[in-house]
Amino acid sequence: MSGLLSKISASTRGAHRSERRNTHRLDADRRAKLLAGLEKADLEWFWESDEQGRITYLSDHALGAIGLDASEVIGSEIATLLDTRESDDAGGAARSLKFRLASHSPISRLNVKVLKASCETWWEISASPSLGSNGKFLGYHGTARDITESLEKSRASERLAQYDSLTGLANRLRMSHQIEQTLAVFRQSKRSCAVLLLDLDQFKKVNDTLGHPAGDELLKQVAERIKKIFSHRGEIGRLGGDEFQIILPDIEDRGELADLSKRVVQMLSQPYSIEGSRAIIGCSVGIAIAPYDGVEASELIKAADLALYAAKDSGRGTYRFYSSELSNRATFRQELEDGLQDALANDQFVVEYQPIVDSGTHKVACLEALLRWDHPERGRISPADFIPVAEELGIITEIGEWILMEVCNHLAKCPPEIRAAVNVSPIQFASADFVQSVQKTISKAQIDPSRIELEITESVFVGDLEHALDVFQRLKKLKVRLALDDFGTGYSSLSYLRDAPFDKLKIDQSFVRGCTAPDTNNGALVAAIVSMAKALGMETVAEGMETKDELEVIKCHGADYLQGFIFSSAMRIDELLERFERKELEFEPLGPERFRSERRTEFRKVGLIHGDSRYNVFLRNISKTGARVEGLLDVPVGTDVVLDLGGGQLAVASVRRSDGFRQGIEFETPLISDGGGGLCTRHRVSPYQIEAAGRPLGALDNDSVAAVTSVRSAPRAFMEVEIGKN
Ligand code: C2E
Ligand code: MG
Ligand code: MG
Repeated sequence: MSGLLSKISASTRGAHRSERRNTHRLDADRRAKLLAGLEKADLEWFWESDEQGRITYLSDHALGAIGLDASEVIGSEIATLLDTRESDDAGGAARSLKFRLASHSPISRLNVKVLKASCETWWEISASPSLGSNGKFLGYHGTARDITESLEKSRASERLAQYDSLTGLANRLRMSHQIEQTLAVFRQSKRSCAVLLLDLDQFKKVNDTLGHPAGDELLKQVAERIKKIFSHRGEIGRLGGDEFQIILPDIEDRGELADLSKRVVQMLSQPYSIEGSRAIIGCSVGIAIAPYDGVEASELIKAADLALYAAKDSGRGTYRFYSSELSNRATFRQELEDGLQDALANDQFVVEYQPIVDSGTHKVACLEALLRWDHPERGRISPADFIPVAEELGIITEIGEWILMEVCNHLAKCPPEIRAAVNVSPIQFASADFVQSVQKTISKAQIDPSRIELEITESVFVGDLEHALDVFQRLKKLKVRLALDDFGTGYSSLSYLRDAPFDKLKIDQSFVRGCTAPDTNNGALVAAIVSMAKALGMETVAEGMETKDELEVIKCHGADYLQGFIFSSAMRIDELLERFERKELEFEPLGPERFRSERRTEFRKVGLIHGDSRYNVFLRNISKTGARVEGLLDVPVGTDVVLDLGGGQLAVASVRRSDGFRQGIEFETPLISDGGGGLCTRHRVSPYQIEAAGRPLGALDNDSVAAVTSVRSAPRAFMEVEIGKN
């Protein structure tokens, strides 16, 4: 014992050599006594090992702390008492205890796990090698102390700094750190990584109506649902508020990501039960993939952000992939924000009306008021673009009040049997004095309230259902009519239909469009919705009819009223009043005979690659399975080509029809939906491949592929011709 203590005192002396001159010299005995006092007072433990790494001494208090007898420890190897492989010096950079022991190097304040302890125990150990007079290693002598508690505390505060205390998910700090690290490592090994950004729709409403504790509970349930969907595939984080983020390594297949995102939207939109109340929310998802959409973390996060914004703008409850055009959209959005503030004051809004006709007589029964914004520079802007911005800016209520007033004034000039339908934003619906304001406006215009139909979407049921039902009852007392707009697209819960006093149900365009296509059950769905509405005593309107075959099918399924471009798009009130003056209340169906499968008309330059040559062609239209291109003369049927759709999207295709400068081509693998009504390829050319062709690594842009495939040295097989727009 005294041998060990004097060795320790010697090494302590060594460590404090610089202070030696200022301290009194203590003789070996006094020092040994002091150390023995320390040991006895349980302020410091001591240990010693021999040259073979066997423990020869350990303080009694240390043995007592781990509940072992000296006989169980003395003589055994250090590695059986302490975990020599894993150690922790807080910085995490220390060499393991095993390495130190093997190299006979000094040990300074190393955190090691005690293996023989009954519960998790950590010691901080320090030791110096004992050397014989000939420099031969004789073993270690050193100190130890229990640091389990302080380590646990520091780990807890570390957790606090990295994890969200409400949901237990990673927080923003950890997520951005993870993205940075992942991207840096993945770049080396040329791997891809997707980032999904989720934002809950109408979460604020739940918070406002049911209270913050309910909001917290909802967020916890949301976190659980997200965890279930992704199980162990990636890291999930809550960035704050109602924003979540998911990092998914090694995915670049947009088909797979679209499926996952659809599941997220679907699962999160199912009703939640919170302390006896039911709440419904929605969810929008933005997706960006490294290195395609961004190489650096900040670039990728910005891309996911823009995609999320686009998803929210395109009606919420959907996903959206990033594409370079979205950067332009962000500028567009900013312009909308800037312009909207004064649009009302500057008389830039116009209300137009789309007739809704009786399905038997085609006589106009109702006029749907649709807001138009005539922007001084951009021209007419779609309400689908600016209404969500007006909602976010909090000016939709004011705009909505103005619209109702305008509609009442116009309606006063129409034949009395005609009603008007006014769209009500869920934000306006939720405002405290909505019912009062409707009443004031209608009585001021002296309009029969039953001539006004308020079109409400399913999202008003989000949040506090009782409150929504109460507003409905109060509106019914005013004798206005209520219509449920865009039925079938929203929050997919039928139970509220039973309790809410709707007079009319508007079947969403997505069921009507293409209801005649062979591979759809849209027709059957329309029939089911119509008969359900009838059973509940509600009238039905089918929206968005464009073609004669759709008209026929919908009529035969028994919808009471019809609305769509086949009868008329929205018209100016003067035009309508002139018609009414002439007693022309009927609208003739005018439109194409047949619906054509999801074919999008386009006119843009794309690349067509054949053999070693790249040609410029014009894309006329495109569907999931094929496209029509123009600009090359006499390409034989059966020619294999690759269409470069921009942004690294290459579609392998084969020419199926060829007529002069026009070709119909079929894709080898179908395109997929981009979530925003557009189409995209599942896979893209990897920026790593482009890098390998001698370009710097960077996110894809429209010319990425063109830049590495535009070598025109090879003899060209086809002749390019100039094409005009029509
Ligand atoms: P909504 O209430 O479902 O209105 C119907 C939309 O479908 C209108 O688009 C209309 O022009 C369009 N539509 C009608 N028939 C057809 C058709 O046969 N084919 C196609 N492709 N489209 C058809 P619009 O005017 O662009 O309005 C879009 C949405 O913006 C409306 O959807 C409504 O949610 C919102 N909105 C429009 N005006 C107002 C308004 O005054 N207040 C509020 N809060 N929202 C409005
Ligand atoms: Mg509507
Ligand atoms: Mg609608």
